[in-house]
Amino acid sequence: MNTLYAPTRESLAALLVGEPSYRLDQLWNGLYTQLAAPADITNVPKGLRDRLTAELPCALRQQARRVSDGGDTVKYLWSLSDGTRIETVLMLYPDRVTVCVSSQVGCAMACGFCATGQAGFSRQLSVGEIVEQVVLAARDARALGRRLANVVYMGMGEPMANEAAVWASVERLHDAVGLSARHITISTVGLPPGIRTLSQRPLPVNLAVSLHAANDELRDELVPINKRYPIDELMKACSEYLAAKGRRLSFEWALIDGINDRATDADELATLCRRFHLPAHVNLIPLNPTPGYPTVGSSATKVARFHRQLTDLGVNATIRKNRGNDIDAACGQLAAGHPVTLRSSVGLSSERARSYKD
Ligand code: SAH
Repeated sequence: MNTLYAPTRESLAALLVGEPSYRLDQLWNGLYTQLAAPADITNVPKGLRDRLTAELPCALRQQARRVSDGGDTVKYLWSLSDGTRIETVLMLYPDRVTVCVSSQVGCAMACGFCATGQAGFSRQLSVGEIVEQVVLAARDARALGRRLANVVYMGMGEPMANEAAVWASVERLHDAVGLSARHITISTVGLPPGIRTLSQRPLPVNLAVSLHAANDELRDELVPINKRYPIDELMKACSEYLAAKGRRLSFEWALIDGINDRATDADELATLCRRFHLPAHVNLIPLNPTPGYPTVGSSATKVARFHRQLTDLGVNATIRKNRGNDIDAACGQLAAGHPVTLRSSVGLSSERARSYKD
């Protein structure tokens, strides 16, 4: 379906045949620079605004807007035209504003510790649905007196399993909204074909890889797609990306108590980085609670110890502050109210289902 932020500049031009040529600039700037809804692009005649509103409806309908961290974290729940739902998170920091966008409704990667993975996959998001999340969050940020400049593809879904739409959205954000590629980060569970395609794309966006384990035995359990794309293959794709882009590569590591926070885990991670000459930056985050996974995040003491060990081994690592836990807006907690299935995972053998409501 054609929605407001779906058309490229060229396809919007095609909708404007018979209009003076400057209308295209007026509308494009109105939508992407002023972040205005068509009805509010008042330098365009009302008849045309009405026609566009009818022909290009918004893709997202706001169902809820919840706030945490004293107003610095905002989670939006949107319903889409087919009734499915997604979430987006806006994060206001003293020095920057970042939006975390979803790339799919649900996720097929089935990581047991992630609420989106527990919910399963519904469908791909279109470019218009991805771009609209950013525009609406940027509009909200502006109403709060802030300018959104950073986008992370770390919401619901696996961006590299929807690479074409994700890439089209990156180009739109770069070309129309004016975001710098350096301020755009795509996070992946680790799909080498997607990473390779991304290496061929023209803009040097940041790549984040959700590693969580540095040996195949443990990663097979935590991140099931590792059985198909084991660590060595993933690291080769990461090296190719680095060689092609010269951009920052980061590894995400959710610290799970007693599972991947041991001294041997830090050792293996450091060895892996050395072996592939990967100047990666490791982001450490204690596992956030999700309804379908019983194991808890590492204590602050263990997180600090793991961090120190990595640093001593010459690996760049940062402990990431958690945002929005109380509104289920933190990493791995986005489920948009979907029921979750408890899959077999580390420490669990049976499958059982339970329902999760926002
Ligand atoms: N599918 C992509 C994009 C999601 S990003 C990816 O896997 O990278 C969301 C990040 O949060 C990923 O690094 C994911 O592994 C991590 N995550 C998932 N569940 C989590 C949890 N319960 N606590 C902390 N981080 C979690």
